[in-house]
Amino acid sequence: MAKHLADYGSSPIDFVRGRGSYLFDKRGKKYLDFQTGWCVETVGWRNAEMAEAICAQAHEGLHVPPWFRVERHERFASRLVKLAPGKLNRAFRACSGSEAVELAIKAARTATGKHVIVSIDGVYHGHTYGAASVGNAFDGSLTPCDGFLKVRMPKCQRQEMETLSALEEIFRRGDVAAFLSEPVWTNAGCFIPSTNFYPTVQALCRKYGVLLAMDEVATCMGRCGRMFASELWGLEPDILCMGKSLTGGYATLAATLVTEQVFQKARRIPYQPTFGWAFQDLAAVEKNVEIIVRDRLDKNAAEVGAYLLAQLKPLEALKKVKEVRGVGMVLAVKFRLPIASLIVAKCYRNGLVLESTDPKTIFLSPMLSLTQKEAKMGANIIKQACGA
Ligand code: PMP
Repeated sequence: MAKHLADYGSSPIDFVRGRGSYLFDKRGKKYLDFQTGWCVETVGWRNAEMAEAICAQAHEGLHVPPWFRVERHERFASRLVKLAPGKLNRAFRACSGSEAVELAIKAARTATGKHVIVSIDGVYHGHTYGAASVGNAFDGSLTPCDGFLKVRMPKCQRQEMETLSALEEIFRRGDVAAFLSEPVWTNAGCFIPSTNFYPTVQALCRKYGVLLAMDEVATCMGRCGRMFASELWGLEPDILCMGKSLTGGYATLAATLVTEQVFQKARRIPYQPTFGWAFQDLAAVEKNVEIIVRDRLDKNAAEVGAYLLAQLKPLEALKKVKEVRGVGMVLAVKFRLPIASLIVAKCYRNGLVLESTDPKTIFLSPMLSLTQKEAKMGANIIKQACGA
């Protein structure tokens, strides 16, 4: 194989097509997909309705850049804000999750006139410079942008109290524009904060005039069993980033939603992504959203996700397994030893695609349309790989 592609230690499995919950490699080997492009796939690969919508748009042969205000963009923005929690009322066009987070940072700073963004240490928020700085995408070879502070990710109730006090101390300084966080810390190994954590964070934000910005790039559109994971805690974010499952993997499209109050102050931010909500992408995403809402795939994610979690829970009886956790279609198995890549390799061999988030944790984000039968099949492959 030619060696010209810049990459990041990617697996050499040469996938060539998908169908439903399965992927196929060049040799025709079939894999059940529990990774789905990392929280991306929703309605199943090679979905006929999706293909039809995409082809129909291709026949229109049209690209409308964002310097035209077209009704179709307006309609889609309305659809998103109507689905979204709280008072989110305006949608900015974006092409990727990183770009959506980038815009959240700009909107928070512009709307408040303050500079500092606080986030949870160890969470990935994207690869562009601002998103990488608010997140953890630096390896020491570059210096992050300034104005970003991190608090420790709490992993138990005691640590939650400590993190909340640390947050309040930082908020008191008076220079904080926003607290930006994933509702569930998916890419850090699927940590789910307790019932009290986010409501207290939100109350602190309101008390100190700090905006609450939720990065729902990985959790939006039903992935955590609710249309937005912020709903698990009844949150009303001021800013919300969407990507990944918004597209079902059929397009390169994202969005940042903001309240009217934020929008009125941030509306002058220069933003004109050439491909923002390109019609070809939009055709796919409109159909993806339609299917998720129509077929209640958020509900399916809650039910089949709970079933999958129950299937995997017995692994906790094994000495090598520390914890099995999850909500909806994001789940993780945490081991006591650094054996995650070994387990992943065994699963690949046995026809299951998943990922590791760190040397001790495997991460699963199956598609929202997964069936109970497929969930059982995947769980059995994982159990076998773990020696259960
Ligand atoms: N935020 C979160 C929580 C993510 O998981 C990711 C991608 N892994 C991003 C932002 C960045 O999205 P993208 O790769 O589409 O730029």
